[in-house]
Amino acid sequence: MLKEENFNDWYNEIVEKANLSDKRYPVKGMNVWTPYGWKIMRMIDTYIRQELDATDHEEVCFPLMIPETEFKKEKDHIKGFDSEVYWVTHAGLNKLDVRLVVRPTSETAMYPMFSLWIRSHQDLPLKVYQIVNTFRYETKQTRAFIRVREIHFFESHTCHDTEEDAQRQIDEDVEILSKIAKRLCLPYTLLVRTDWDKFPGAYYTVGIDTVMPNGRTLQIGSIHHYRTNFSEPYNITYEDENGEHKYVHQTTYGMSERLLGAVIGVHADDKGLVMPPDIASFQAVIIPILSKNNTELVTKESKILYEVLTAAGLRVKLDDRDARPGSKYYDWEIKGVPLRLELGGRDIENNVVTFVRRDTGEKGTIDAATVAEGTKLMLRVIADSMYAKAKEIQESHMQDIDSMENIPEDKILRFGWCGCPECGHAFEDKFDIKILGHAYRPEHAYKGKCIVCGKDTDMQVLAAHTM
Ligand code: ZN
Repeated sequence: MLKEENFNDWYNEIVEKANLSDKRYPVKGMNVWTPYGWKIMRMIDTYIRQELDATDHEEVCFPLMIPETEFKKEKDHIKGFDSEVYWVTHAGLNKLDVRLVVRPTSETAMYPMFSLWIRSHQDLPLKVYQIVNTFRYETKQTRAFIRVREIHFFESHTCHDTEEDAQRQIDEDVEILSKIAKRLCLPYTLLVRTDWDKFPGAYYTVGIDTVMPNGRTLQIGSIHHYRTNFSEPYNITYEDENGEHKYVHQTTYGMSERLLGAVIGVHADDKGLVMPPDIASFQAVIIPILSKNNTELVTKESKILYEVLTAAGLRVKLDDRDARPGSKYYDWEIKGVPLRLELGGRDIENNVVTFVRRDTGEKGTIDAATVAEGTKLMLRVIADSMYAKAKEIQESHMQDIDSMENIPEDKILRFGWCGCPECGHAFEDKFDIKILGHAYRPEHAYKGKCIVCGKDTDMQVLAAHTM
């Protein structure tokens, strides 16, 4: 199946071929992570932990089940999740007096505890996160890493004394995101969602979207400002310097295994995965090119090369299986290893290592004397060029429109909107498309007209079909 022709089938085939996940588990949407897939996800989690720890967040782990009584405290929240939660109704043979929700997200698990933990302004800000599985009953067709019922999920939750401090947190989240996305070579947009599309219970939601090569967008995460929408029903208060009790302002930031789905969708090609060097299980694979008269020498030099690169902190695989080089190339191409290093008699004679880039297929040599530095440099070049290519694809899908006639297919549409729900819904319904929102940090001021009613507006929005 070709990526260009049928993105959806191609995606499923690549996940299967690369053996990232096994969907044969007998509950749809609850896939098994294979060792190879899990290694990559763990790498992504490692970077998330690194960034969160570096910004004074602390990792916690809350229970999976939430009593219905706590779950129902925030009205919009429960309305938003009602139809997609799993319920635990029995414990052994006994019917439970209070049903338990299997967490779809952890606000309602954490906030009753926050109200006990926070006493004074000295307890603020409170910044915690966890990486756990969450559960949502997905009714649409499931798809590995993109649309699942058991979700590998990162969520951070913060409490602040003022709305401004909560706002500063959101800006910090945006910085954290930029560092993580860079490692994944993923460009993205940050858009303030429409009121009807914000997180249930949020004051506002910033959606993090990336553009798939088929012109649809995939939401890979979101950041929310809650103001006091949750702290009021959950009674999370602090005593300020004057002894007055006040509600905390809260934010959350969530991302999931969709990050991996996005990496596959954006970077992989018809031959298999193309892994960004920072999250590749193996950043380089060494393939010894043996011939009858040099087996011993090449084998020995390959081991030395492996040791040199590993000692330099690179994740390397020495493929010394008894198989033809061609079939090894094929295997590692499917796995998406960024750099293939070939070592044969002639390479050793010339004091070089031959490399082949997974992303472009480009072939060249690295000086053997400085092979670790050369390999690292090449991985950096690959990452930069993968990002640039993805950015180009994103840009190529953006299209400005100024009328409702002849709307192009498979494009991310950019246009003026007056902001009123009537115009917004009219546009969405006519094209069965979603308004993703306006830029969180606009690059320049906008002056235009609402595409529906023609009123002057300074708000420009993006709309797209979503994955
Ligand atoms: Zn309008």
